[in-house]
Amino acid sequence: MADYRELWESLDMDLEKHDELCQVLPEFYGDIYMTQEKRPEGMNYFNFVISEIHGLRIKELNEHRKNGKKVFGSFCVFVPDEVILAADGIGVGLCGGSEFWVPDGEKVLPRNMCPLIKASVGAKISGTCPYFQSADMLVGETTCDGKKKAWEILEDYIPMHVMDLPQMKREKDKENFKDEIKIFKEKVEEVTGNKVSAESLKETIKLVNNKRKTLQRLYNTRKAENLPISGKDALLITQVAFYDDTNRFIDKVNELCDELENRIEEKVSVFKEGTPRILLTGTPMAIPNWKMHHLIETSGGAVVCEEACTGTKYFERLVDEDNEDLDSQLRALSERYMGINCACFSPNDGRIDDIIRLYKEYNADGVIYNSLPFCHTYAIEYKKVKDALEKEGIPVIMIETDYSLQDAGQINTRLEAFFEMINMNKELAI
Ligand code: SF4
Ligand code: SF4
Repeated sequence: MADYRELWESLDMDLEKHDELCQVLPEFYGDIYMTQEKRPEGMNYFNFVISEIHGLRIKELNEHRKNGKKVFGSFCVFVPDEVILAADGIGVGLCGGSEFWVPDGEKVLPRNMCPLIKASVGAKISGTCPYFQSADMLVGETTCDGKKKAWEILEDYIPMHVMDLPQMKREKDKENFKDEIKIFKEKVEEVTGNKVSAESLKETIKLVNNKRKTLQRLYNTRKAENLPISGKDALLITQVAFYDDTNRFIDKVNELCDELENRIEEKVSVFKEGTPRILLTGTPMAIPNWKMHHLIETSGGAVVCEEACTGTKYFERLVDEDNEDLDSQLRALSERYMGINCACFSPNDGRIDDIIRLYKEYNADGVIYNSLPFCHTYAIEYKKVKDALEKEGIPVIMIETDYSLQDAGQINTRLEAFFEMINMNKELAI
């Protein structure tokens, strides 16, 4: 990586500690990603993005800030990017996916909390994440209890705005969330000094929809019988979607999709024939959490789809583009975002329907339900999901794991047994 020390220093980072992080990431990435065979050429761009994850993009963000733009960091797919972009702001996803930040999070949070929250808070208070340091404001939400209480701690370190997310999906909840988006719009206008107009919002609704359509195109290639891309690579692309410049990301993913669609025609696959196809569902996998994908794909399986926030929840539903006034646009945004089936809602039957639908669409052979420890909403919801899948005859297992690799061997053994069972079922069905 080029020398960005001056830039990091200007962001008030703990350089010594940050050096430790920079030392481990390239090797970690190399072991997981660069060992894959037959990777598409188009993945070179994403290799480059990762090699420059604390460099070039941070430089870009800071150049924008020098020109008066504001950066908003968020932690959840319920924060509407359209509003930030319409005020000429920049949104970046911040969820911490690294074990590196957990001990710092534990300095101010109880240990028995989800690692995603601990890592997110740890990243800020340790001063080792340049994205947190480049943010002018963080945007939290009242999704799970852990997050909403963590914001009260984070606001001692950086300005925060918290959006109140309803926990049910009745008509009045959609109206409430529309009001929340309006309040958020006013906050964004105050921070950026720019008004959001119906014209600017119409444009950014289209732009973010285009990003979603591009990801839909990418995911559609994973429905093919011969898989042109690994699950690991697809996950990486979704993770990068939260950070990258929107237009550049759309161009690069479309270029890659051209290549993948050619591969499908030419019957090129990155997995050998008959590899069990897995739908992964559960808690978000924030960068650099590649653990479950890596374990699955080195134990004899292939991930064909993620029913997760770093997956279909991020891009599946589009916002209605045919509204000319702000009030109707805010309503359309609320409709789209309230369509996300996060486990923080009760009831959340829509998620079960999504899992069964995706299982069929992606021709999956089994479902792996992945949950971070101490994520009560997702862990409790497993019972209903499991019952529904068993009723449909869909094989499912739950794996609860954090970011550390201590349990890797044990998970491998469970995965191998699961894939063996799937293969036996397939043979019996012939
Ligand atoms: S799982 Fe729920 S709370 Fe977590 S990022 Fe996704 S939508 Fe937000
Ligand atoms: S994984 Fe679960 S506990 Fe952790 S932040 Fe998301 S919803 Fe909350």
